[in-house]
Amino acid sequence: MGEIKIAIDGPAGAGKSSVAQGVAERLGYLYIDTGAMYRALTLVCIERKIPPGDGGMLGAVLHDFDIRLTPEKTFIGGRDISEEIRAPEVSALVSEVCAHPSVRREMVRRQREMASHGGIVMEGRDIGTVVLPGAELKIYLTAGSRIRAIRRGRQLKAAGIEFDLDELEREIILRDHKDSTREDSPLQKAEDAILHDDSEETLEESINSLEKLAREHGA
Ligand code: C5P
Repeated sequence: MGEIKIAIDGPAGAGKSSVAQGVAERLGYLYIDTGAMYRALTLVCIERKIPPGDGGMLGAVLHDFDIRLTPEKTFIGGRDISEEIRAPEVSALVSEVCAHPSVRREMVRRQREMASHGGIVMEGRDIGTVVLPGAELKIYLTAGSRIRAIRRGRQLKAAGIEFDLDELEREIILRDHKDSTREDSPLQKAEDAILHDDSEETLEESINSLEKLAREHGA
């Protein structure tokens, strides 16, 4: 069995995290949710009252940004922030925080380091295009915006967070727009990525499809 690199990108709520986590488990690979890194920085920015437009200050925070990711949890400085980073306030600001080139440069450096040994499933927005352009398998995972809102809603409900479905769908469309129109590494399908629409699939079916692709690509 090889130890390939798998890049999964796509818009908000397409199920990337659940699918990537499931595939990584099947393959015995490391799973990295890069969105959690940008969300963690956004949470710090909110807590320290740093304006999200201040790239210089955000870059400075990253100098000693002690983030640790496990397959299920996110920690900063040993504090478990896995639930806080899913809060609507964080979702609303993250696209602004992550658009600064100084922020992306440092995050991408860390992500490449994590992936350097292979045996990894990394998901985000720019993994196939920027972070791991040489990944053996690239997937662009997408689904209709209503379906994606319903899926995000389920996650919020499980975390006890109130939401309105129409508003959630609008928020998702707006975030996708910001993510795909920013100048530095916008969300886009890498030319050599396989487009996979999972609107009609159960989680189990999506994991099966991607596992099959991974095996065909040397995993
Ligand atoms: O995947 P998730 O929805 O948690 O990502 C939160 C946000 O982080 C995205 O909307 C995007 O603005 C940003 N992000 C990014 N590049 C990545 C992963 C996430 O810009 N590789």
